[in-house]
Order: sequence, then C-alpha cells, then structure tokens
Amino acid sequence: MEKNSYRVLLYYKYVPVEDPETFAAEHLAACKEIGLKGRILVGTEGINGTCSGTIEQTDAYMELLRSDERFSDIVFKIDEADGHAFKKMHVRPRKEIVNLSLEEDINPNELTGKRLSPEEWFKQMQEEDTIIIDARNDYEFDLGHFRGAVRPDIENFRDLPEWIQENREMFEGKKILTYCTGGIRCEKFSGWLVREGFEDVGQLHGGIATYGKDPVAQGQLWDGQMYVFDERIAVPINQVEHVVVGRDHFDGTPCERYVNCANPECNAKILCSEENEHFYMRSCSDECRTHPRNRYFVEHKLTVEEYDERLEAIERRKNEVHASN
Ligand SMILES: [Zn+2]
Repeated sequence: MEKNSYRVLLYYKYVPVEDPETFAAEHLAACKEIGLKGRILVGTEGINGTCSGTIEQTDAYMELLRSDERFSDIVFKIDEADGHAFKKMHVRPRKEIVNLSLEEDINPNELTGKRLSPEEWFKQMQEEDTIIIDARNDYEFDLGHFRGAVRPDIENFRDLPEWIQENREMFEGKKILTYCTGGIRCEKFSGWLVREGFEDVGQLHGGIATYGKDPVAQGQLWDGQMYVFDERIAVPINQVEHVVVGRDHFDGTPCERYVNCANPECNAKILCSEENEHFYMRSCSDECRTHPRNRYFVEHKLTVEEYDERLEAIERRKNEVHASN
C-alpha cells in the first residue's frame, strides 16, 4: 500500500436533524457501502464525525454529505494517513453531539463566542489580560496544549461549566480564549461563557486541527502533540518547534506515548515508555496492578510466580527511588 493513500476526516455541523434515529441508520448503511470506518454522532442539533478511508472513499463520503443541503457547506479537516484510523464503522443517534449536559442547552447558531481565525488566535493569545482555557479532557491537555493555557481540574468536558463557576475570579475582567480539537466543543462552551456574563470571549475557529495546518500560524505556541480519538492517538501540530510537555506516569521523564491501564475497571490513559509499560505491568497503581481481572497478567500469560516476582521488583524500585530522594 502506498504511503498517504488514506485520509482521516474530522467534521461537525450544528444544524437541525429531525429524525436522528432514521438518519443514523441510513447514514451507516451508506458509509458501509463506501467502505468508510469511523465514529459519527447524530442528534437533533447536528452531526459530529471522524472517519477514515482511501482518497477515493473519503472523496465519495464528502460528496455524499455535501449533497444533503443541510450539510452543503460543512467543513472537513483532512489529515493524510497510511491506513485506516478506525477498526469499525459506527453512526449513533445521541441527545447531544458533544456531551456538555447543560440544564439549559446552547444553540451555537444563536449564541457563541467570537470565532477567531488561526492568525487572529495567534495574535490574541499573546496579548495582555488574556486567559486561555483548554476546553478538553485532562488527558488531552497532558499530551499537549497551548503555551500558558489553563488546565481545568476536571476529568470530563461536561464538568467544565461548574469548574468555571467555582473559579470565576480567575477569569473576571479578562479576555477569554477557548480552544478544543476541532472547534465543536468550543461552539457551545464559548456560548455558555457569554451567557454567564463574560464579555470578551473568543474561540479558535476550526480548533487545533485547523491551527496546525494554517500557513501563517503554523501551529506556533502549541507545545506537545494533539490527542486524537482514533488509532493514531497523537498527531503533531507545531510546525516550527516541538516542545515535549507529556511526562511519564512512573518516572516523570518526557513522554508522548499513551497506553490504557490494564485494569478493565480503570482503563485510565497513562503516559509511559515501553520499558515502564512492561516493568509496571501497564497498571497505573498498586490497586490496578493487583486487580483480579488485570489484562496485562492475562495477555502476557504470566504464572503466579512470575507475577509475584515482578511485584517484588516494583517494590524494590520504589524503595530505591524513595531512598535516593
Ligand atoms: Zn488504573
């Protein structure tokens, strides 16, 4: 297979879809017919999708979606790829196409923050009295973020409004800038900020994905990599310099490699080297390491004896680190 003969598409549009269930079923059949793989959410408020396919398949899909007048002006962010970035094709009807769970919902077509082009964003983020809020999950921030951005102390995007209310004084009187992967989360979140009474709210139009490709901004002042919700996991953004901000969960050294904790009930995303993954049996804590259904234990066919030996080695290293501190 030729390199870069595939593409990954990222797109959304807030536009009324009357019957999301029927739309999802028909759309899934059409996507499968094309040979596309990916994940698409459809709600009465619109569509949110990311999918992969060959150049021909993605061309056919973009044509299909644009032939529906509701989506005729939809913007696709296109990445070149070496192969599919998903294993399956899902189209799911959802109440919300991004999970913000506001009591009183926001329609971004009626209320949203100022949409800033990558060039405008690059200028504004360097201005005084500006505060940048990362509107993504903590593990996305930890792999990469805009220099100086605030990392809300939350696990899920839907907890962001409450966190802002609790930390209101941080943002009072400031120019607020918000950003997310493709722009869809900020459309609602920045609208919510405006409704909350913040006067100067801007959002990165097209998200980080667009910013990294912009010929003027060139991804500048972005540190680390961007987390993506497909098999690639991490993609580069800053074309000018690469500063690693991710830190290995176990030893704190620079790291941009994510694995999932082997405890199926935890499944936390942990940054770690390949060496540490194996030494710590891909488990984020002692509790996860000794969980009866630990997947690492099964995958590597460890005997109970081997397993105990490795637990002891971990204890020894912990004591060594402790003694040297
Ligand atoms: Zn864990």
